[in-house]
Amino acid sequence: METNMMRQIQEMQRRAEELQKQLASMEVEGVAGGGLVGVIVNGLGDIQKVRIDASLMKPEEQHVVEDLVAAAYADGKKKLESQRFQDAGFLGNLMSAAVFESGRNLRKIGKPLDRAEWRMTPSTVNAYYNASLNEMVFPAGILQPPMYAREATDAVNFGAIGMVIGHELTHGFDDRGRLFDADGNLTDWWSPEAGKAFVERAACVKSQFDGYLVQALPLDGALTLSENVADLGGLKIAFAAMQAWAKEHPDRVVRDARFTSEQQFFLGAAQSWCRNVRVAEALRRVAVDPHSPARFRINGPFSNMPQLQAAFGCSAGAPMVRQTRCEVW
Ligand SMILES: [Zn+2]
Repeated sequence: METNMMRQIQEMQRRAEELQKQLASMEVEGVAGGGLVGVIVNGLGDIQKVRIDASLMKPEEQHVVEDLVAAAYADGKKKLESQRFQDAGFLGNLMSAAVFESGRNLRKIGKPLDRAEWRMTPSTVNAYYNASLNEMVFPAGILQPPMYAREATDAVNFGAIGMVIGHELTHGFDDRGRLFDADGNLTDWWSPEAGKAFVERAACVKSQFDGYLVQALPLDGALTLSENVADLGGLKIAFAAMQAWAKEHPDRVVRDARFTSEQQFFLGAAQSWCRNVRVAEALRRVAVDPHSPARFRINGPFSNMPQLQAAFGCSAGAPMVRQTRCEVW
């Protein structure tokens, strides 16, 4: 038992050191005014390696990011040069692109791992956590409204892009990510006790989402578990990071607006997930998409958070206050 705990502490320290190295090399740490990612990562307790598009930095520091994006783009362009599109129609080009991509992947066999390769283009509006490299990637594409806006208040940005960053980070500790160590190797580094407690806590999230309906079709709480755990953890991390940030930078907290910064946080998160999806597509996604529909990605975690109840002064029986609150992280 004690040995297990020691092992876990050592592993956490190793992860923290890895993160510090990464942050230092990316000059994210200590950036005033816009170092949102650094703030959030530090807010969690330094446990992840980060490779980040840092366009949240001050303008004079953005060259770091531009160089990064340019490097990623040039690299991607080089890789795609031999791909030829022709007048073969959409399906024909789709198939030839699939052949090209399969060939590109097959040629990697036997070669050293390219740790710099992104699974998304810089213009993609998305982000991901890759357990086998223990890294998060935020392409430039997602760093725009409604996920991030320079004109928005810090609180709104913490709610919107902060939730995304916290989400990817939490993937490192969800039901799959937790099985990988700091180097991205498949190793169960948790004590059996911690593993058991995790499974119990996650079961609460599973049954919560089993209870949501799209039309008459219930969501699959098991299929969507990783993403729902990441949403709940991500929001909590982002909220805690915002509070830490506000304490250090009281001048950046908007006091006289219609909404408190805590309310702005939740409104920023909710607005960033506004979507409109046709019913047929919504039903299809229930069967195949590991992400819950946007509405439940907000209402689900929000209703587990006492922070939301406090921010809006909800009564105990209000629809957004769950009687049984789920908490994983
Ligand atoms: Zn995710």
